[in-house]
Amino acid sequence: MQDFAMIIGGQKIAARQSFTVTNPSTGAAVGHAPNASQADLDAAVAAAKAAFPAWSATSDAERQGACEAVTAKLAEHAEELAQLITAEQGKPLNGLGSRFEMGGAQAWAGHTAGLSLPVKVLQDDEAGRVELHRKPLGVVGSITPWNWPVMIAIWHIMPALRTGNTIVIKPSPYTPLSTLRAVELMNEVLPHGVVNAVASDDALFNIGAAMAVHPDIRKIVFTGSCATGEKIMQSAAATMKRLTLEMGGNDAAIVLPDCDPKEIAEGLFWGAFINNGQTCAAMKRLYVHDSIHDAVCDALVDYARGVPMGDGLDENAALGPINNQKQFDTVSRLVADAATKGRVLLGGAPGEGLFYPVTIVADLPADAPLVVEEQFGPALPVLRYRDMEDAIAAANASENGLGGSVWSKDIEAAKAVASRLECGSVWINKHGAIQPNAPFGGVKRSGIGVEFGEEGLAEYTDIQTVLM
Ligand code: NAD
Repeated sequence: MQDFAMIIGGQKIAARQSFTVTNPSTGAAVGHAPNASQADLDAAVAAAKAAFPAWSATSDAERQGACEAVTAKLAEHAEELAQLITAEQGKPLNGLGSRFEMGGAQAWAGHTAGLSLPVKVLQDDEAGRVELHRKPLGVVGSITPWNWPVMIAIWHIMPALRTGNTIVIKPSPYTPLSTLRAVELMNEVLPHGVVNAVASDDALFNIGAAMAVHPDIRKIVFTGSCATGEKIMQSAAATMKRLTLEMGGNDAAIVLPDCDPKEIAEGLFWGAFINNGQTCAAMKRLYVHDSIHDAVCDALVDYARGVPMGDGLDENAALGPINNQKQFDTVSRLVADAATKGRVLLGGAPGEGLFYPVTIVADLPADAPLVVEEQFGPALPVLRYRDMEDAIAAANASENGLGGSVWSKDIEAAKAVASRLECGSVWINKHGAIQPNAPFGGVKRSGIGVEFGEEGLAEYTDIQTVLM
């Protein structure tokens, strides 16, 4: 079994201790990850700090070229990284699985390489000239979750790199290996110290918490749960770090009565069950008009029955296991409760190991935990509505506001409902379909700031105005 190393200053560095990463499909060990200490984190931050003056002084064209070289590395090693993602994350190689994730990683890397933030002239007249410059921040600390490990690492690393920052990334203890390997590959084409990677199991040493208070880290970009994001925001105050926090969601979808249930079943299914529901902007509550509620439930159940679940490394699997025991227990608790309050249409009980069958539950009360909490797993509540105002109010009755969707043949009617949803992204006739040119972020307690596009890039800079 392979030992994976930290990447610090362009070198592979072993930690004094390591921990084992297991395959959620089988429980077998996948590899050993370094279990970093405070000294290791300090060394990584020092390497990033030392690399910053030269990297931030490179020209825009040089940085674009470097980002393109990183994109090419990802393409060259896409299959190797996909295999590693499947082994440690559990998602299938095919469908919306790890090969799809690597496709996304390359698309985001390539798109970000082509973005730039040129100097803006705010005024140029006889009274004077005013320019707005964007300056890199320094060392950026990136903290990522376990659901889309490499794609989210790319979301953090590429805009930081493109704008002239240096980076220390810390992946989730459940999925550190693919990130460590991806950063090792990046270091083949980047100056040493520009991108560094450390990992820990959070038990021996919570490295993310240490990053949030580190005096030499200027910004934290975090993707993960609301509870952790709140802790980071509190800890980051003392050093006035810039923050981008992409946190949990409880996305609602509203289906209008003019929809054809059979036509929308596939889109609804994958909107909710992409990566087994372990996706921040997956559909987590489905509101369907009473007149087609039962037909939509039937069509969804029919579609779901044809989706094969299995070991992620099986080329035929379209859904894999839940990634870890903690998440499995959350899903089990929510469904066990839902089964006593609603009507289980499909699934409803744990499977073998970390496999949890696709579960669809109808007729739940609005305050059922499966409706109120983020399930982050393969269990979808379908809720009946009669009045559109009630559906909108129910959709907005959440402290989260990441995404939402409206389904209708009448685009204008759908847009009118969409504009009233309290969320950062709203889709019409699809759900969760993020793309690199569309800024993405949460409102309410789902986060602060956006990623992607020029707006996302700007979050890795300070503004300096020059007034002459
Ligand atoms: P998590 O918050 O448990 O962990 C995320 C990361 O934070 C991990 O790397 C973890 O090691 C680290 N961490 C743990 N304690 C920390 C601390 N005290 N300070 C700093 N970092 C710490 O989240 P998770 O279970 O890995 O991911 C699932 C959650 O992520 C879900 O809520 C999901 O909605 C959310 N998510 C959001 C987005 C988005 O873009 N909005 C994307 C993916 C996942």
